Amino acid sequence: HEQAITCTGCGVSIQTEDKKGLGYAPASTLNKEVIICQRCFRLKHYNELQPVSLTDDDFLEILNGIGKTDSLVVKIVDIFDFHGSWLPGLHRFVGNNDILLVGNKVDLLPKSANQNRLKNWMQQSAKELGMNPKEISLISAAKGHNIDELAAIIDQYRDGKDVYIVGCTNVGKSTFINRLIKQFGGETEEMITTSHFPGTTLDLIDIPLGEGATLYDTPGIINNHQMAHFVDEKELKVITPKSEIKPMVFQLNEEQTLYFGGLARLDYLKGGRRSFVAFMANNLPIHRTKLEKADDLYEKHLGEMLSPPGPDSLENFPELVKHRFSLKHEKTDIVFSGLGWVTVHDLGAQVEVHAPKGVSVTVRPSLI
Ligand code: GDP
Repeated sequence: HEQAITCTGCGVSIQTEDKKGLGYAPASTLNKEVIICQRCFRLKHYNELQPVSLTDDDFLEILNGIGKTDSLVVKIVDIFDFHGSWLPGLHRFVGNNDILLVGNKVDLLPKSANQNRLKNWMQQSAKELGMNPKEISLISAAKGHNIDELAAIIDQYRDGKDVYIVGCTNVGKSTFINRLIKQFGGETEEMITTSHFPGTTLDLIDIPLGEGATLYDTPGIINNHQMAHFVDEKELKVITPKSEIKPMVFQLNEEQTLYFGGLARLDYLKGGRRSFVAFMANNLPIHRTKLEKADDLYEKHLGEMLSPPGPDSLENFPELVKHRFSLKHEKTDIVFSGLGWVTVHDLGAQVEVHAPKGVSVTVRPSLI
């Protein structure tokens, strides 16, 4: 019979199975006198925050708690996975608190991309999803881009209040907070501590901002319909761009199809020969075929020639569903959340795309 062991740092229950879950500690540390979860260990010894994830219920509890506070909420999304990394319930829970919306990973955008257009698109998409952020910032947590500006905006809007940083897993929340720690609290280890979230047993990281206010990191939540969850870790590396993405140009004739690995598909139906430009991870294999052969190809070659998903991910891979768009702009981006986008040039193209069930596909005026 096992007794529940808790972390002496933050009080969370210790578990040894899920490395990314809350309360993880390597099994080899369990016989030590003082047991501490890996997250607290790294925070204590390296002043470094590790990402953790939560189940839906725990997460809703946290959001509920934030709604009861008078605070500033900073919501981080991945600009390559805007809809996938959105937290659908958030704006209902945060009550009257101001929200700043932060798009991370801007270092991956091609230099030619217009960041103001991206911000406008984020603003409009946020509005459609029911949220009205006070400001939109584009940052690169990894490269340190725009962090000072964002810190200043946070300072302006928090007005002495506490700050909660929220975001789903993999948006780069920990990378961002680790930057803030270096910037604000870098000198002494003791400045950063963990505390319990009001009304729950969940731990939060306190980063003192001065004037008695605190910055809270909240655990990320896993959004199950993200493209990232339909592939394994190795395949995720293939679909995640590592550095500035290089556009790939395809001249397509009518009735031709592009497969993006086996994860998504674009059918060009009608509109004469024209160019399509893919902005995706440069390692993602793109396969061109005839529309009439496309279904058959998918059936026969998904998981091998059309991969990722690889053979091991096929079992849980959702079916592709069709989306139709009328393209109203001179240049339109068709955005596959979690994968990237394809720019369609000139008006009058008839295009259909397919993406895994649950993965969002949207259009916007081209960023380029
Ligand atoms: P969290 O789960 O939200 O805490 O996310 P992490 O901070 O652990 O980051 C998730 C992944 O995104 C990691 O592979 C990071 O290296 C990567 N990442 C974080 N910030 C950036 C960024 O600004 N640019 C790029 N290209 N990658 C980033």
